[in-house]
Amino acid sequence: MTRGPDAAPFAERLRRAGEVSAAHGVDVLLVTPGTDLQYLIGVGGESHERLTCLVLPAAGHLAPPALVVPRLEAPRLAGLPLDELGVEVVTWTDAEDPYRLVDDLAGGPTHAAVVDSMAAAHVFGLRDAFGDVKQSLAGPVLRELRMRKDAAEVAQLRAAGAAIDRVHARMAEFVQVGRTEEEAGAAIAAAIVEEGHTGAAFVIVGSGPNGASPHHGVSDTVLRRGDVVVVDIGGPLPSGYYSDCTRTYVLGEEPDASVRESYAVLQDAQERSVAAVRPGVTAESVDAAAREPITAAGLGERFLHRTGHGIGLDVHEDPYIVGGNDLVLEPGMAFSVEPGVYLDGQWGARIEDIVVVTEDGCERLNSRPRDLVVLPG
Ligand code: ZN
Ligand code: ZN
Ligand code: ZN
Repeated sequence: MTRGPDAAPFAERLRRAGEVSAAHGVDVLLVTPGTDLQYLIGVGGESHERLTCLVLPAAGHLAPPALVVPRLEAPRLAGLPLDELGVEVVTWTDAEDPYRLVDDLAGGPTHAAVVDSMAAAHVFGLRDAFGDVKQSLAGPVLRELRMRKDAAEVAQLRAAGAAIDRVHARMAEFVQVGRTEEEAGAAIAAAIVEEGHTGAAFVIVGSGPNGASPHHGVSDTVLRRGDVVVVDIGGPLPSGYYSDCTRTYVLGEEPDASVRESYAVLQDAQERSVAAVRPGVTAESVDAAAREPITAAGLGERFLHRTGHGIGLDVHEDPYIVGGNDLVLEPGMAFSVEPGVYLDGQWGARIEDIVVVTEDGCERLNSRPRDLVVLPG
């Protein structure tokens, strides 16, 4: 397990998790390893057949929070501020039933909520131990918290944005005529680590027609002069917070006028969408701000995905910037604004920045030029 930062933000998150649980009529949250656990106590833990589970009673319930861990793994918690957070560590041995232990610690709930990522084996183990206690997903509770980033989280997302910007700034080193997308992608992945990430979570190098497939990864296609190349890259910092940034390049020479023309529409759409972000507007209105100019230019059918996704400890999380989502934006919400246009069999383009909603607008966490940059080739 990796060490989390100082205890204060986690104390606040645990307190709020208890409050929001109570507001949702949930008596206890059951949190197994994953990003929800990482969010709440600073370590994500590891998931395997032996149960590790944070038992977090809602506000107003007397039972203290407890972290149930296999005895052989307890030494790995040394150094975590669990004492400071008021979280009691309760170990179990292989001869014991950890699900009954969780049930004992839960304080007799009538409604328990389990994290969305919990392994089915544990879900069923708890279901048996809890008998006829109502059980539901904890997602609706935890999204309320995780969607609104605190200052420590915004600082991490800002650092992640700066780190991935440094990789895009070096793109001429990686994306070169005669290399395959795979070769370029491997060099980019190494740079993602060099610039401060613990790994490259995804590397898309979509050249020419491959760029028209939004989730193309890399292939053995050789990069050619004149190719339009979509580069969408990101990964986690040691803190676990993700970067995610797309820029579109051209290799070695000016593209066709028609490419410039469509790209200008896309760039305008991305600007308008970012400009639409502020507290009090809906997620779908930000999507509409990107979609309207693209549709007006006759490219509506070519913009075939939502405008963005939330980002934090997970690279895709709430809030989703999509038609039909009437969620009202609030300060601290962080998400991508990434419209794209995809011309089947020809080329594609996407521009992606991460933004954080501020008191009166938003802060962009990526700052590389957004125009169609011609690389030397
Ligand atoms: Zn995506
Ligand atoms: Zn992306
Ligand atoms: Zn994205």
